[in-house]
Amino acid sequence: MIKEQIQQLSKDIFNDTVATRRHLHAHPELSFNEVETSAYVAGRLEALGLQYQRMADNGLVALIKGDKPSDKVVALRADMDALPITEANDVPYKSQNVGVMHACGHDAHTSSLLGTARILTDLKSQFGGTVKLIFQPAEEKLPGGASLMIKEGVLENPKPQAVLGQHVMPLIEAGKVGFRAGKYMASTDELYVTVRGKGGHGAQPQQNIDPVIITAHILTALQTIISRFADPKSPSVLSFGKVIANGATNVIPNEVYLEGTFRTMDENWRNDAHIKMKKMAEGIAESMGGTCEFNIMRGYPFLINEEKLTIATRGHAEDYLGKENVLDLDIWMAAEDFAYYSQVADSCFYRLGTRNESRGITSSVHTPTFDVEEDAFKISTGLMAYLAVKQLGN
Ligand SMILES: [Zn+2]
Ligand SMILES: [Zn+2]
Repeated sequence: MIKEQIQQLSKDIFNDTVATRRHLHAHPELSFNEVETSAYVAGRLEALGLQYQRMADNGLVALIKGDKPSDKVVALRADMDALPITEANDVPYKSQNVGVMHACGHDAHTSSLLGTARILTDLKSQFGGTVKLIFQPAEEKLPGGASLMIKEGVLENPKPQAVLGQHVMPLIEAGKVGFRAGKYMASTDELYVTVRGKGGHGAQPQQNIDPVIITAHILTALQTIISRFADPKSPSVLSFGKVIANGATNVIPNEVYLEGTFRTMDENWRNDAHIKMKKMAEGIAESMGGTCEFNIMRGYPFLINEEKLTIATRGHAEDYLGKENVLDLDIWMAAEDFAYYSQVADSCFYRLGTRNESRGITSSVHTPTFDVEEDAFKISTGLMAYLAVKQLGN
């Protein structure tokens, strides 16, 4: 019965959810600068009669307590930040903050969670347990808002037995959602490498130490970290997208600068690989007369969807949406700071389909033409409310 009530309420608030999303979309703010967004969310929570607590500057946490007796707690998370991208869409709700754009759908996550909050507030008398709403800043920028909010105690007092998060996915049609139990997204580490030699005339290599050739060996050898050292059963990726050797046809430069990314799904192997990559690069440079400075900036950990929780949650989603609207996801080597919750609490991060081919809404996240099919809001608010009350044992 609560299912039908939630479905009705989500229909009732659909227009409001779209309007909220459009407001947020038109007023995007960069990571760690979500001041107006945070104030807007705070106002909406107040309007629902919910008290909130601030965390990590712009983050907000609020509780909705069901009237029926239960000690269970579930946390629902949305992120609020936008990206440094200039929007190319010609839509009425186009970004008014030039150079900043909600190109990862965090406007959809925030407006959906506000809708979920409204549904759950209306249905307080119908369920038992506590729903913890987490509106976090800075998903897109290290060290990530999630890690800061966890440090400030977002997962304590009360401690949730499960954390749920939803994220838009332009590969999935609006109206459908996707789940994957177990390892889902990768850890990411940024690599900043400088190979130094001794530059000079290209005609006299014997008098120089050529950092370009040293770099060529390092780049090739480092791929053996993946092909020879990584467990083939566990995915790893190593890519260098920037290699600057700023010499000329007849000039060997003094140094070469590289930037790359290392991604995997195992924290022990991740640490081990860091040591191996550094040692290999330094060793090759040294053996050829040069030096190598290998800096690693640690990013987010890998994201794991707790098996039991995810299988149960997927079942509830089938119940709410129909089996045909719940898909299985493949692993994805992108990163997401929801991973921090998943490392310390049973978590489930699922995907909300936002694609509409017939309307040309197909662009990938993080592109200037990204948009979401707003029909997705017909399910996003109610589904999360339903998953929460089911997780609370109702
Ligand atoms: Zn993103
Ligand atoms: Zn995102």
